[in-house]
Amino acid sequence: MSRTVDLHADIGEVLLPEDAIRDKVAELGRQITADYAGRPLTLVSVLKGSLPFMADLMRQIDLPVRIDLMEVSSYGGTSTETSGLVRIIKDLSASIAGEDVLLVEDIIDTGLTLNYLIRYLRGKNPASLKICTLLDKPARRLVEIPVDFRGFEIPDQFVVGYGLDFGERYRNLRFVGVLRPEAYSDAK
Ligand code: 5GP
Repeated sequence: MSRTVDLHADIGEVLLPEDAIRDKVAELGRQITADYAGRPLTLVSVLKGSLPFMADLMRQIDLPVRIDLMEVSSYGGTSTETSGLVRIIKDLSASIAGEDVLLVEDIIDTGLTLNYLIRYLRGKNPASLKICTLLDKPARRLVEIPVDFRGFEIPDQFVVGYGLDFGERYRNLRFVGVLRPEAYSDAK
């Protein structure tokens, strides 16, 4: 029988409280605004995990911004591990050729997904391509990723909240937290 998901009781530890995320997103927005210095910018984000970050970050960037959304899924792997084999479920809706593009990610873990996306987007001939991630787990990196804007470095723990899921749940939490082991072992 499937276990009832109790959003808050399943969290063992709050790693990043709501106000810390808010302050960091504002800081990233200021850095990005200064870095592009008035140039138009295309933000590309990857559904579904980056949705809250993208929505908050774009409102902290004081530039003429265009947005686009992709959705990818990885084949193989497990519920908490990616395999590096990426399938594009939703592609860009407009050309990025000649544009300054900032790829907005929720988390970089092994880097395999982003490595694929970077190569894919470079193939579309943007004028420039930079990477912004809210969370970075450098301990697990398998491929080198040039991160231009980084929110938080976090330890090697599986986190949920602020867009990040386990089994499609917990995305709507306003903070980032670590699940209790019980929530892993019998969540269906
Ligand atoms: P990577 O390819 O870098 O290993 O993993 C990228 C994707 O794996 C992320 O976009 C995210 O969907 C998922 N992922 C990696 N680490 C975590 C984590 O700690 N929590 C959650 N919920 N997803 C993660």
